[in-house]
Amino acid sequence: MQKLLQGLAHLSGLKDRQVMDLALVKLIGQSELWRFDAVRLLRAVGPANDQHWVRLGQWDNQHSAPERDEFWFDVSALPRLEDFVHREAAIVTESVIRTGAGPFTTIFPIDTQASVCSVLEVESAEAVSATSEALIDSVLHLFENLQGLLDYGERDTLTELLNRKTFDTAFLRAAQTQGEDRSLGRPERRSSPTQGSYWLAVIDIDHFKHVNDNFGHLIGDEVLLLLARLMRASFRFHDQLYRFGGEEFVVLMRCASHDDALGALERFRRQVEQHAFPQIGHIAVSIGFAPLRADDTPSGAFDRADKAVYYAKSHGRNQICSFTTLVACGELIEQADDLQDVDFF
Ligand code: GH3
Ligand code: MG
Ligand code: MG
Repeated sequence: MQKLLQGLAHLSGLKDRQVMDLALVKLIGQSELWRFDAVRLLRAVGPANDQHWVRLGQWDNQHSAPERDEFWFDVSALPRLEDFVHREAAIVTESVIRTGAGPFTTIFPIDTQASVCSVLEVESAEAVSATSEALIDSVLHLFENLQGLLDYGERDTLTELLNRKTFDTAFLRAAQTQGEDRSLGRPERRSSPTQGSYWLAVIDIDHFKHVNDNFGHLIGDEVLLLLARLMRASFRFHDQLYRFGGEEFVVLMRCASHDDALGALERFRRQVEQHAFPQIGHIAVSIGFAPLRADDTPSGAFDRADKAVYYAKSHGRNQICSFTTLVACGELIEQADDLQDVDFF
């Protein structure tokens, strides 16, 4: 029990979700209270009609260090949700599912966020006792609460998208890996369409002030909420979606090429344009985007994308403008500040 408590104390001090996921599977896998062969933390990701299982953490008794699926994987190549009916059943019934007759598989649902479905799957030679199940359930409850606390600090309360505060850290992490192919030296990994470089897009609703003026602030808020939902449905699981405040949103995404990034943004722009928002009808967005550079700064990249949004606004709105293209065709001039953001002090 002491080891479990020490593990929980360690877990509660963590701030990084990826590290927390790995710590959870290790904590449960290595506890002296039971003998498990494998422990997996899994999440269902992707659009509602095409969900797949991603392993956020996996521990097994052959390897001391827990592992996870590469962050930049091709989601469609992962196992499909419906191919694991017991996991699905744990989520749907919100109860522990026990299968097998030695080896046994025990599946615990995890309730981290309204829109996120996760399970903890345990494999063991012997059936998990009721006492162990209850203890694991309590550990998962604590895990859910810790995740909730992280959400509270990291997410915008209206849309549940990430807030601006968390952007800098994610940005610097992305800038560091810019251009790095994470599958190198891993021949067993699938080649992913998301390999490539990072792009930062700024999305701004067109004439949003009219929505507030004509329909009121509450309806305006509803539009922001619905737009965030459209973003979640349109962009990929690993694209990082932010609300920067007001009616301004940011996407940090990894795409193979400039045209892929443009394609993903164009798909979203069209979806917004076609969506019928209750009461107000149709709205549009203007989008600007720019590639991240090695040694980039969050404000430098944001400013470049923002300049492209400004250009889109002043040239008709409801369109996407690429900073790179605008510079190449002489519409924008790349200033020294854009080339390299320097902190003087
Ligand atoms: P443009 O096409 O040039 O972007 O025009 P716009 O009206 O969207 O832009 P502007 O910056 O003039 O106005 C943004 C408006 O967004 C002003 C403010 O009333 C509204 N707004 C900002 N934050 C919120 C919010 O949290 N909720 C609601 N409902 N409205 C907000
Ligand atoms: Mg704005
Ligand atoms: Mg606007």
